[in-house]
Amino acid sequence: MNFVIVTRFAPSPTGRLHIGHAASAIRAHDHARTRGGRFLLRIEDIDGTRSRPEFIAGIEEDLRWLGLTWDGPALRQSARLDAYTTALDRLRGMGLLYRCFCTRAEIAASLSAPHGGPDGPLYPGTCRRLSAAEAAARAAEPHCWRIDMAAAVARTGPLGWHDAQAGDITTDPLAHGDVVLARKDAPASYHLAVTLDDAWQGVTDVVRGADLFAATDVHRLLQALLGLPTPRYHHHPLLTDAAGKRLAKRDGAPTLAALRDRGTDGIALADALRAGRLPDGTAAASA
Ligand code: GLU
Repeated sequence: MNFVIVTRFAPSPTGRLHIGHAASAIRAHDHARTRGGRFLLRIEDIDGTRSRPEFIAGIEEDLRWLGLTWDGPALRQSARLDAYTTALDRLRGMGLLYRCFCTRAEIAASLSAPHGGPDGPLYPGTCRRLSAAEAAARAAEPHCWRIDMAAAVARTGPLGWHDAQAGDITTDPLAHGDVVLARKDAPASYHLAVTLDDAWQGVTDVVRGADLFAATDVHRLLQALLGLPTPRYHHHPLLTDAAGKRLAKRDGAPTLAALRDRGTDGIALADALRAGRLPDGTAAASA
C-alpha cells in the first residue's frame, strides 16, 4: 500500500514566530518532504482575544523566507467552528461534559492544597457536583464546558500512543483533571480543536515540541471517544537560550522578522538549524 506521510505546523497567531518555531516548522516540513509526503499549515486562531490577522500574514512570510512550502491554503481553525460544535454535542450526548461557572479566582481560592497537573493546578471539580437542574438554571451565566475525566477514562479503558523518541506511552489523562473543551470566550479549547483538525486534515505524523508531550494523553483520549485515528507522534526538544531557559518571545527571543530585518539569510538559517548549528544565544534543551 502506498502510504503518504502528512505532517503539519500549527502556530497560534498571537505574535511573530521566533527561532524555536522555525526549528519546529523545519522538522515537520522535512519529515514529510524527505519521504515524499505532504506538509500542511494550520492557523490556530480560535483565541479571538489574542489572535491577530497581521500575525497570520507574518507567519506565512516567515515560513517562505525559511524556504518552506506547504500544500494547499492554510487551514484556519476559525473556519472549523461547526465541526467543534458537532463533536461537543456528541460528547455531551455521552454524558461526559458539564458546565463550569467558576472564575479563575474562585478556582484558585478553592485550592487549599493545590494539586498540580501538567498544565498547572487541577480543577477541583466544583461544578461537576452541581445537579443537572442547578446547572441548567444557571445556563445564562458565562460558563465553559469541562470533560468529566474519570467518567471518560472509565468509558475508554487504558489507552496508548507511540512517540518516535520516547517509545510506547500509556496514557494518564486523569493527571490533567477535568480539562476545558469549550472555553467561555471560544467555542473550543486547544485540546479539542487540535485533535479534530489533525484527524480532519489526515495528519499521519504530528511533529511538535516536547512541551506538548503530556497533552497528547488528552488528545489520545478524545480520539478514542470520537472514533478518530491516532497519528504517530514525534516530540522534539525545545530550543533554549544560553541560560537553559525555553525560548519565548516575551523574554526577548529574536523574532524571525527581526533577523530578516538585520539581513540574515533565511535559507542559510534553516540549513544551520537542520545541521544542529544554532545562532548565538540559543542551545538545544537536553530533555
Ligand atoms: N498551536 C500550538 C502552539 O502554537 C501548537 C499545537 C500543536 O502543535 O499541537 O503552541
